Amino acid sequence: MPPRAATDTDTSAPGGRVNLLDFDARGLRDFFTSLDEKPYRAQQVLKWVFHQAEPDIGKMTDLGIALRQRLGEIAEIGFPEVIREQRSVDGTCKWLMGLADGNAVETVFIPEPKRGTLCVSSQVGCALNCSFCATGAQGFARNLSTAEIIGQVWLAARALGHERNGQRRITNVVMMGMGEPLLNFDNVTAAMSLMRDDLGFGLAAKRVTLSTAGLVPGIYRLRDALDVALAVSLHAPVDDLRSGLVPLNRKYPIAELMRACRDYVSEKHKRTVTFEYTLIDGVNDRPEHARKLVKLLRSLPSKLNLIPFNPFPGTQYRCSGSDAIARFQEIVMDGGLIATVRKTRGEDIDAACGQLTGQFFDRTRRSDRIKMKITDTRQ
Ligand code: SAH
Repeated sequence: MPPRAATDTDTSAPGGRVNLLDFDARGLRDFFTSLDEKPYRAQQVLKWVFHQAEPDIGKMTDLGIALRQRLGEIAEIGFPEVIREQRSVDGTCKWLMGLADGNAVETVFIPEPKRGTLCVSSQVGCALNCSFCATGAQGFARNLSTAEIIGQVWLAARALGHERNGQRRITNVVMMGMGEPLLNFDNVTAAMSLMRDDLGFGLAAKRVTLSTAGLVPGIYRLRDALDVALAVSLHAPVDDLRSGLVPLNRKYPIAELMRACRDYVSEKHKRTVTFEYTLIDGVNDRPEHARKLVKLLRSLPSKLNLIPFNPFPGTQYRCSGSDAIARFQEIVMDGGLIATVRKTRGEDIDAACGQLTGQFFDRTRRSDRIKMKITDTRQ
């Protein structure tokens, strides 16, 4: 098998140097084999990078001088660059991570009493255009490379340091930042494999979560590729309502999505799925929606995460009132579902769900197309 590296994003450094963080452990072993080096060199490099936080190839003393020199000529270990760090009054941190091509994505750390969750981006922008999400409203530029995804975790881990007892502060990673991770399958799964790998961050399967808007073929592929937790952004119990919120639903309607989720959690795979449901005032937060949701999810080993809608400039939607949220939760719990309401965090630094916009060049020129449409209808 050829070395596994970024497939659809050319991130090679000027001069064509290969970024060693674009490989997962297996890919890196294959890379060293292709250089006629022993595969265990991969293990040495990964330990330096992830266990010793030492990304300078020149300082990896156990590689030997000749190999270090050779690697110095053909390879590099390259990360995004932290452009800005913001800290919320509630302890949430947000970083704007600059990429070599001038784009930037956002990464968020949410500390809680017993865990610390890092929310990582998978794409620059997002092509799915969910009507309630600030990222989608901005258009799509490109997929992130494996190095740009795992690099967010590495940089955040370095910035956060350790707890007083020596524990790492990042205990969980969720692919819930900018982008649709299953539309960047190869790079996202390679990066998640480094999050899971003992040579990387060594996180348990249930602590690494991929969140999808419902890309059905991707869910089946993920099932066979990697052992991680799955979250599905549902937001509505019926197709017409869901298609208005998540346009991808027109391609993969709820029944197909449920089949894929059922398969993901089947006996053989012993997993659960978390459904995310953003509560939007007067849109999807009525008791009848809650009752239909119970019917839909009752027979599936799953959890429901209710997310109060987070507003962003230009949106028409509003967050559901606290009474509507409490009533919704009561109905689904009475119906036998396990449901939690996600606390909104990092509001003062625009770090809450759906508020990440980063900074990028819109290759889809969505803003122009929208302007054209408006002009058309006026003629
Ligand atoms: N594309 C993936 C991952 C990114 S979104 C997905 O759709 O799952 C992460 C979560 O935040 C999703 O559940 C998304 O629906 C939710 N979200 C997006 N915009 C939001 C907003 N304005 N308020 C609350 N939640 C939002």
